[in-house]
Amino acid sequence: MKPMSPFSRLSGLSRRSFLASSLAAAAVPHAVRAQVSSEPDVVVIGAGAAGLGAAKALMADGRSVVVLEAKDRIGGRAWTESETFGVPFDHGCSWIQTAKTREFVAAAEEYNFHLQLHDGADEAVFVGDREATDFELERYWDAYERVENAIADAGRKGLDVPASTVVPEMPWSAASQAWMTMGMSVDFDEMSTLDWWSGADSGPRYIVEEGYGTLIARLGADVPVILSSPVSGIAWGGDGVTVTTPSGDIRARTCIVTVSTGVLNAGTIAFDPVLPPAHRQAIADLPMGLLAKVALQFEGTRFSFRTDEWLTYLVPEVLPAPACYFLTWPFNQDLMIGFMGGDFAWEMSAAGTEAAVDFALGEVVAMVGSKARERFVKGTLTQWASDPFTLGAYAALRPGAHGARQILAEPLDDRLFFAGEAAAGAYYATCGGAWWSGERAAREVIAALG
Ligand SMILES: Cc1cc2nc3c(=O)[nH]c(=O)nc-3n(C[C@H](O)[C@H](O)[C@H](O)COP(=O)(O)OP(=O)(O)OC[C@H]3O[C@@H](n4cnc5c(N)ncnc54)[C@H](O)[C@@H]3O)c2cc1C
Repeated sequence: MKPMSPFSRLSGLSRRSFLASSLAAAAVPHAVRAQVSSEPDVVVIGAGAAGLGAAKALMADGRSVVVLEAKDRIGGRAWTESETFGVPFDHGCSWIQTAKTREFVAAAEEYNFHLQLHDGADEAVFVGDREATDFELERYWDAYERVENAIADAGRKGLDVPASTVVPEMPWSAASQAWMTMGMSVDFDEMSTLDWWSGADSGPRYIVEEGYGTLIARLGADVPVILSSPVSGIAWGGDGVTVTTPSGDIRARTCIVTVSTGVLNAGTIAFDPVLPPAHRQAIADLPMGLLAKVALQFEGTRFSFRTDEWLTYLVPEVLPAPACYFLTWPFNQDLMIGFMGGDFAWEMSAAGTEAAVDFALGEVVAMVGSKARERFVKGTLTQWASDPFTLGAYAALRPGAHGARQILAEPLDDRLFFAGEAAAGAYYATCGGAWWSGERAAREVIAALG
């Protein structure tokens, strides 16, 4: 049987479905500069999906809100950029999935964006420079299914142990693990079986030609955001909260913190008083994993790969697997998007863009020959590992620490609230989940403010 998919919670295609009209998306307006009231009801830290979702829910309820964003743009890990390749490239999220799918799809249609249902992907599988035989494919699919089932079985029983302790050793296991490592952002020795099992089904998945980041930026365009405003301190001990930025303090009645657990663990924001031990432990138990993308641009060729197809190849049974698996020619663009996860992604990110591009190109050359080098135009590597306002791709719950996501999401003294993908319950590690968690925090704030 064909495995559910590469990426487990991400993936695939079998049919094309353009839901939107052919009209190009309108340009995304810049976030408006906030009219900061002297003491808004809510100050939100971070203008990613969680912060924007929270702010919009608060605004809809008539609350005064200001969002402080460290970067000079909104969207956070939802970020589309078109300068590198002349076509939209999502550095962060690209599949609409899990929470908010219906709403995001509806918004994309309203904006005349082009969506494509991307479930049940075709997959090209290589062994060296040739396509896998039927026998090899069977072994790969069997390994994928058995690895996934072993994790699911453990999770179903409530076992919160490293996935590496339950998976069978068998040929093609490393290739299967590499895909799942990309989805969960950590290698199997750091992957919680229970967290895997507790994750929501991805539901129908869509990719967006104009970019998922473009969609989120468009959705958040009416939110009052102060850009280039890194928060260094949050005093939440007395009445209300005082938030410190380079351009001065902002007082508010309540605060929603949406920065990544990478930022929280780095101590970039000083909390006064310090967070209670349970929250500190929860943050420590949700370190950032890494999914890195290496996008390669080629001209005048598709090799033997189809549009929107996954490309997998056999790797040695050595872990962590040095694997870079691809999505080929999304929306028929001249791009192969490579994905690397876990320790190998950290290693490649530390080595730098040139080394990562060279590695990914080398893998394509190994499959299709030197013509790949001749047709290669340029490549890029996403920079989430070193981005000081993210410090990784998304949080990966430590094995044995089940419950940390819920603890992180608990409000403190009806003044300090947490949202973001790490605190998104079963929707963790997703953009829709982050937005959903922002709305959840907004509801809690509204209840607290009365
Ligand atoms: C490579 C990659 C691929 C992904 N693929 C998918 C996918 O296909 N589908 C999917 O659903 N999800 C995917 N995700 C996950 C998804 O992008 C994230 O879960 C989601 O965007 C996180 O939103 P957030 O609001 O929680 O955090 P963020 O987007 O990180 O927002 C937090 C904001 O806080 C800001 N900030 C940080 N520190 C400070 C400070 N001190 N002061 C002020 N502001 C600060 C940041 O700049 C940022 O804008 C992917 C992520 C990555 C990295």
